[in-house]
Amino acid sequence: MNLPDDFIIRTKPLLREEWDDLIAALSSDSPTSIRLSRMKGIGISGVKVPWCDTGYYLGKRPQFTFDPLFHAGCYYVQEASSMFIGQALKQYAEDDVKVLDLCAAPGGKSTLIADLLNKDSLLVSNEVIRSRANVLSENMTKWGNPNVVVINNDPAQIGKLKGFFDIILVDAPCSGEGMFRKDEGAISEWSVDNARLCKERQQRILADIWPALKPDGLLLYSTCTYNLEENEENVQWIRDELGAEVLPVDIQEEWGISPSFAEDIPACRFFPHKTKGEGFFFALLRKQQEEGVRTDFRRKRNEKKNRVELPDQYKDYILDKEQFVFYPKGDSWYAFTEELYNDVCILNSSLNIVSEGICLGEFKGKDFIPAQSLALSNYLNVKAFETYDMDWKTAISYLRKEALILQDMPKGYILLTYKNVPIGFVKNIGNRANNLYPQEWRIRSANIPESEVNVMD
Ligand code: SAM
Repeated sequence: MNLPDDFIIRTKPLLREEWDDLIAALSSDSPTSIRLSRMKGIGISGVKVPWCDTGYYLGKRPQFTFDPLFHAGCYYVQEASSMFIGQALKQYAEDDVKVLDLCAAPGGKSTLIADLLNKDSLLVSNEVIRSRANVLSENMTKWGNPNVVVINNDPAQIGKLKGFFDIILVDAPCSGEGMFRKDEGAISEWSVDNARLCKERQQRILADIWPALKPDGLLLYSTCTYNLEENEENVQWIRDELGAEVLPVDIQEEWGISPSFAEDIPACRFFPHKTKGEGFFFALLRKQQEEGVRTDFRRKRNEKKNRVELPDQYKDYILDKEQFVFYPKGDSWYAFTEELYNDVCILNSSLNIVSEGICLGEFKGKDFIPAQSLALSNYLNVKAFETYDMDWKTAISYLRKEALILQDMPKGYILLTYKNVPIGFVKNIGNRANNLYPQEWRIRSANIPESEVNVMD
């Protein structure tokens, strides 16, 4: 690996006698790991990621694109070190919290957070770049948790919601030194100047979002880079300039996680020569008390009285329907956890929402067309639909958005499953079935493997 000279000059003294081990690790292959969805309930046997009970290493990198269960949100392909943030949440997060994942696309950490929150907690996943926000929304929809709102905003706009969030994750855009092994582009884009610009941008992001964190709230800060400026120095800056306490996260010695390079910062560092994963830095901070911060976000509006009601037969599309509020927005009908609906109204009134809760579908003429979000929701009531379990080839055709022919099935909306896991809807019109899979999600590659790709076996 051809590392930049300046990177070597800056990083070798930090690693000291471990430097050669790091270089050797950077020349080896990146491990492949996935994290299973707790809600979709599909299991796997294999080598576990030590710090994440749903994380597994795979012996090789399969063609995930051609595994229908990947598209169904049964697992997320995630680099193992990043899964560590779950440890901090398990140790410190309370029930019924509002969480913001500020730099969330493509959704690795948001899907992990969604898995760990209870049903009365809210996850707001933000991505500032619109095209990436769409990918984030797709991945969160596939993951299927109902208490998620995906937004597309600048941190300063979200910062105006003073004291709204109990927990904020800033997985900061960084100089990416920890990704050198996985992503060659990270090496060519690296420079000392870029690392400095990253540090300055990280501080701007942190300062902009800080007002939105409640006093006593938790800030999770992470990067995938090794240098001091973007890591320990930024954590010291948050502590001293914004006002926070750095909290230790429980780890086990055998995990191979390294301490931070600053004695007064109990943060965690992941090096590929010591842990099976990529380079990663993680720190947890608790915001100090502040006078006069608003934390009493009362009902913004309660439109329940005047609201048009969705007929009961459609409410039956989801499980535990009494826990949800059903409301129209644009052409579609949505369901959101009743307890959290007020928060969704507040977000809707000031931020740019990309997706929210469960989109059930829309009325067209006499039809109610079920949405993809419903098919993949962990609260879908499968019994409300006729179902058809596809073989692998049919599932790949469906995911490529081809028209299907379903033998011996009634006309109307049919829920297609693969290995009994919901994948999407078709409208069966008799001689063929119209494919309702979202156009922008379809598998574009025509290089379909000869044999079934099956990651979960
Ligand atoms: N958390 C993500 C995950 O686990 O999948 C990875 C996030 S990546 C490290 C950082 C993200 O920050 C990118 O998606 C990038 O578009 C976004 N970003 C870039 N500039 C930003 C800014 N000024 N404010 C907020 N986010 C920004």
